[in-house]
Amino acid sequence: MAITTTNPATGEVLKSFSALSAPEIEAKLQLAQTTFQQYRHTSFAARAAWLYRVAEILEQRVMRYGELISLEMGKPHRQAIAEVKKCATVCRFYAREAHRLLADQMVETAAGRSFVRYQPLGVVLAVMPWNYPFWQVFRFAAPALMAGNVGILKHASNVPQCALIIAQIFQEAGFPVGAFQSLLISGEQVASILQDPRVKTATLTGSEGAGASFASTAGSALKKTVLELGGSDPFIVLPSANLEQAITTAVKARLQNCGQTCIAAKRFILAAEIYEEFLEKFQVACASLKLGNPMAEDTDLGPLATPLIRDTLHRQVQKTVVMGGKLLLGGTLPEGPGNFYAPTILTEVPPGSPADIEELFGPVAAIYQANSLDDAIALANKTEFGLGASAWTQDEAEQARLIAELDSGCVFINAMVKSEPRLPFGGIKRSGYGRELSAEGLREFVNIKTVWID
Ligand code: NAP
Repeated sequence: MAITTTNPATGEVLKSFSALSAPEIEAKLQLAQTTFQQYRHTSFAARAAWLYRVAEILEQRVMRYGELISLEMGKPHRQAIAEVKKCATVCRFYAREAHRLLADQMVETAAGRSFVRYQPLGVVLAVMPWNYPFWQVFRFAAPALMAGNVGILKHASNVPQCALIIAQIFQEAGFPVGAFQSLLISGEQVASILQDPRVKTATLTGSEGAGASFASTAGSALKKTVLELGGSDPFIVLPSANLEQAITTAVKARLQNCGQTCIAAKRFILAAEIYEEFLEKFQVACASLKLGNPMAEDTDLGPLATPLIRDTLHRQVQKTVVMGGKLLLGGTLPEGPGNFYAPTILTEVPPGSPADIEELFGPVAAIYQANSLDDAIALANKTEFGLGASAWTQDEAEQARLIAELDSGCVFINAMVKSEPRLPFGGIKRSGYGRELSAEGLREFVNIKTVWID
């Protein structure tokens, strides 16, 4: 099978790679396993030195890596550069903090001495998506490697060049050969690797379908997984909100990365008092954004990453309209090459329509009106997803209720949802389980060993 990288802005095939054969996969798994036997005994200081070097390489070559990201998956170059810089930040965070976060924790019990020790598990398999082709990988790899595990990456099939470059970066930074490897393979080749006894634990970021299949294979082999899946995050705006700030942030929260972000705001729940004003200004702001070549300085929105993603999104919009939804903006396919899709706004979203119950992975905003705080919270929670939530209000009592009652892995008040290395990241309900980043993310990949000494 060929793994092909195609420029989403032009449709031009850039490169093609052969998927690894069974013997090649076996050799990589064996290398990972033998490397782990040595690597697990390396000191935190040695791992940190390598990871600091990774951060330096990322920063030195930020323009080049940013260009590769834009070329393979279409995000505007400015955003790609920011992504690479963020990867350096997560490397530095874990290089600095891992020894402290994984230090023995003394616990007073009836024992002479008792404590908790965190030890690496072995080979960690990571299956990652294309939407943040560097960030998604580094936020798994930095904690996994600092904890003393080794990593194997199965990256999305449309970003093979990113996958290979990332493996090279770890090598060049000095990590032992085999500490981090990229496997160019298809999704179907994942199950047998996941079942291999040398793979001890695994993490997948992607769609619900991939997550369910991955988790069921892992479950049958009794392996723990972390799943970071889709979302349909609410963005609630209440009457006391700073409206200008909420609108500017709403545009970014929905349209950054051309809307292809798990924690993008997807459902905008607006109090009746500010509904008209918000919508009018939001529409003007969305319509003013420039679609185009991801490498151009003034581009706000690049293409969607693949034709399939655009087709799926367009079908979801059309079906919502057929069911009674109203198109306030966009909703048509631009002519010409590339997977472009203009910012789209849907109002009067019918219950049960795709915009209401599915994830819209592209630049489409679904708008709702709420008649009270209770109504807003009920609408926000009326989804099978539970990744993030953003809510805008200056009223402290309202803030307290939103924090307590929104069913999601995080709540951001008067700010857009974002990931930050020092805070845990992850979802509930069909958005997955487990956490990445912070101490919680680091401890997903370790044996939490209880020690009792009398
Ligand atoms: P996807 O189709 O599920 O692909 C994600 C990864 O899983 C790819 O590497 C893919 O490989 C692999 N894969 C697909 N089917 C598989 C299977 N049955 N077994 C094992 N691996 C399989 O997801 P996507 O559409 O590319 O990515 C977008 C989704 O990811 C959205 O739902 C988004 O919300 C979610 N996401 C979540 C987070 C989060 O942190 N919660 C972050 C980013 C994205 P191939 O490319 O070879 O098919």
